[in-house]
Amino acid sequence: MTLPYAEPLTRLDPPPRVIPEPPRVGEPGGDPCGLCEWLAGNKPEHEGPLWSDDNWALCRATGVTIPGVVWLASRGHYDSFADLPDGHATSYGPVVARIERAILALGDIARVHVYRWGDGSAHFHVWFYPRPLGMLEAKREMLPLWADLMPEAPKEVVADAEAKIAAALAAGI
Ligand SMILES: [Zn+2]
Repeated sequence: MTLPYAEPLTRLDPPPRVIPEPPRVGEPGGDPCGLCEWLAGNKPEHEGPLWSDDNWALCRATGVTIPGVVWLASRGHYDSFADLPDGHATSYGPVVARIERAILALGDIARVHVYRWGDGSAHFHVWFYPRPLGMLEAKREMLPLWADLMPEAPKEVVADAEAKIAAALAAGI
């Protein structure tokens, strides 16, 4: 693993803790959940999901640097694994496996990383980051750091990868 920064880095002391924390988007007291609005079809200016079923919607990312980066959101406003209804919880593993297979089928991908940070919107979502084959410097937690700093991939290449993932899911991969 290699940090995408030149050495030497300077270690910082952690700043004071902020308690109570500010509300996240979609939490009581926070901004309303735009994802719920989009999934309800109230944002026609934005394209719909790449694929969806009764529980899940697979979504496009913006500013993609690694073609094949996508994210999965619950249909319905749930925050985390802890409050997912049983139908979502039991279908989560199978749907993640299908998405992983669809991304791997793009080719030249060593691994598919699944990230669930949970510090952004309070609407359940997980990220899928394909690690390009041979990109050993981006193993483990280095991949999103590298992805943030890489140049944006050509939009047609990103759209082609998304279309292939969507088609694989629609075909029942
Ligand atoms: Zn929501």
